[in-house]
This record gives sequence, C-alpha cells and structure tokens, in this order.
Amino acid sequence: MTADIADLLAYLDASPSPYHAAAEAGRRLAAAGSTAVDPLGAWADVPDRGHVVADGAVVAWSLPAGGPALPPLRLVGAHTDSPGLRVKPRPDTGVAGWRQLAVEVYGGALVNSWLDRDLGLSGRVAVRVDGRVETRRLRIDRPLLRVPQLAIHLDREITSRGLQLDRQRHLTPVWGVGSVDVGGFRTLVADELGVAPDAVSGWEVMVHDLSPAALVGADASLVSSGRLDDLCSCWAGLVALGEVGALGSDAPVGAVLVLNDHEEVGSASTRGAGGPLLGQVLERLALARGGGRGDVLAAIGASALASADMAHGTHPNHPEKHEPGHWIAVDGGPVVKVNANQRYATEPATQALFEAACARAGVPVQHFVGHNEVPCGSTIGPITATELGVPTVDVGVAQLAMHSARELCGATDPVRMAAALTAWLTPDHPQA
Ligand code: ZN
Repeated sequence: MTADIADLLAYLDASPSPYHAAAEAGRRLAAAGSTAVDPLGAWADVPDRGHVVADGAVVAWSLPAGGPALPPLRLVGAHTDSPGLRVKPRPDTGVAGWRQLAVEVYGGALVNSWLDRDLGLSGRVAVRVDGRVETRRLRIDRPLLRVPQLAIHLDREITSRGLQLDRQRHLTPVWGVGSVDVGGFRTLVADELGVAPDAVSGWEVMVHDLSPAALVGADASLVSSGRLDDLCSCWAGLVALGEVGALGSDAPVGAVLVLNDHEEVGSASTRGAGGPLLGQVLERLALARGGGRGDVLAAIGASALASADMAHGTHPNHPEKHEPGHWIAVDGGPVVKVNANQRYATEPATQALFEAACARAGVPVQHFVGHNEVPCGSTIGPITATELGVPTVDVGVAQLAMHSARELCGATDPVRMAAALTAWLTPDHPQA
C-alpha cells in the first residue's frame, strides 16, 4: 500500500459499511505480507505479522521476530463505523401509494445530509444454508433509495425556523410506487445473495451515498467523501502498519493496529473499544509466544496508544464555535486533542511522544481544545485507556462537516497522518 491520496479515496469507496471496511483492511494487510489468524482457531502457531478480522473490527500486529512474549507496544486505534441510516427488521412500509423502507438512525447523524441523495445499501446478512447460519456481506451500488425533502412551498417556515426533521416520520426512504410489498426487502436481499427469501434471517444493512469519494476545490486540494470519520484514520493506520513491515529481534517495540466498530454509539459491544477484543488478542499473542498474563500487564504499562479519530477544523462560517486561541487549520497537520475533563485521554507524556513522532516524520502538529460553551465530543481513546490501562494520546486529521453524509478534509493531512503514525509505530526506544 502506498500513502497517496488516491489510495485513501479507493479505501473509502471500498468501505460503505464497517464490515466492508474491516474486510478491505484484512485484504490490504494480507497483500502487505500479514497472515490472517482465525479468531476461533487454536492460536498455537501465531505469526509475527498477523491480523484478525472480526465482523466490523480488526486487530493487526507486527511483533519482533524471536523477541519476548510481548514487548512494549506502540498501538494505533481508529474506528470503522460512521453515523447514518440502517434498515429496520420489518422494513417494508409505505404511505399514499409509495413503497418505502423503514430505517433507524445510527449514531449522531446529521440527518439533513441524507436528503435528496441517491442511495445504495450495504452491510451484512445472516442466512441459513444447509441448516447452518452464515453471515455474508451485502453491497448494492444501484440507486435504490431516496429520502425526498419536502418542497419549500409546503414548508414556508423553513426560512424562519430552519429545517426541522422528525427522525421517525421524515427520514423514511422511498424506493418505488405501488402497493407495499411485504417481504420485498427480504426478497431483494435474497436475490442479491443467491439464496431463498426464507433463508434470510437477520441483517445489519445501512444506506450509503453513491457519490464516490472525490478531490474537490479550485486546485483539487480537498477530499470530499462519506465516512472520512473515521475511515481516514483507519487508512492512515493501515498504511503505517504496512510501512512497519517485519520487525527484527532487536526492535524496541511491537506495532499493533486496532480498528473498532461501534464508536459512534458508545463503543460498548463485543467489537467496540469498550469490549474485550484488543485485550483478548494481546493475551492470546503472549500465550502463543510462551508468555502469560504477567507479560501482558508488563507490556501495557510500557506501551502507548495513538487513538486516531477525526478532529474539528475551524469552520469559516462559524468561527465563533471554536476556541479562539486554538483554531485548527484543515491541511495544517495532525491534531493533538486535549480535554481536561478526560473526553480525550491525552497526557503530557503521550503528547510528547506523538509530537516526537511528528518531528521524525517531518510533519507539523496542531493542538485542539474545545470552546468552553460547546460540549466536547469523545472517542475510543479514553475508552481503550480505561479498559486496558494503556497510556494514550488522542489525535486526528482536521475536517469539516463531521457526521454529515458527505464530509470534507484536506488532501495533504491524511498522508501526513500516515507518516506520523509510521514514525509513531517505529521509535528507537519505547520512550522516544
Ligand atoms: Zn470518529
């Protein structure tokens, strides 16, 4: 994998759902020389460079060949999920001669951004085949769905009180006219997957904007795409781990990449940062390499995590929303996020380690802190730090329109973040 911006666009387009983002990450890791490990396997002969893909999450590692059971680690974390609209369990519905699909809002979506776009469907589906349940990825890039906005003539108050959307009534996509076809969605999914409709059991299927990621702006210096939060960081982490490659026995740290699902809904799940996935993989690695839980505990204390999630660039039309002493420039370099109330996990020492990595990579650093009257977001950093006890720094690429169906960042920052994370994963000392 190479760190050019066209490759980020390709990763974004390959990843309409967390399951596709994780599968594409696994494909890229394997192409770079990592070995896929079955999370349900015996973990007897674990490779020095390996990865686990578990639903919408990934843990990948490069450990020193012949090194200790678990050396001090440099970790990079990011998340695969993005806010949006997901198909309900009994979705076939309709009013006034329209055929519609009922959807649930996932995460803190800017729901207005899903209006009047041509939408496809992607996700994963459980099917029963020969008496067993299999989970299959689904991706339909045809323009199936549309959430039509109400005409201004029927909403005159929109100019005085702004657009107001009821999340239950106003977001239901249309996908045709005629009588409601109960079972129509199930039949569509079955046809796509080549199974009988009654073999389709459950699904996590979401809508995605069919506009591909693009370079925009007068000099094509901006990235316009869905899901930059947080696939941009996933991509930078994948590039960085690919650059690390195989580590010799004298490497001072091992490198780990963790891509979690469910950040946008609080991270409390089997695949979220609040779940056991990362801790279990680290313990299994130590056990497979002849160590035990003591090695894990010792390694974690000497390790450091860069939690990479997107940051708020200063919006030119709303500069008053940003802390005036800490304006963040899009394409101004990776952002270190600080919050005294621990919405970010950055500590002075971890901040210094990340800034040292940026210096080695030759990229500038910016510093974000929230406006005191604007509630601060949070991310996987504090959750992983809390769960694992690993010292953490929260970092990110600056963007606008976070949680819109179509977000915006610079075309230089992602490449800089990949370089910074590469340096982060390859210090010449655990405290360098
Ligand atoms: Zn995020």
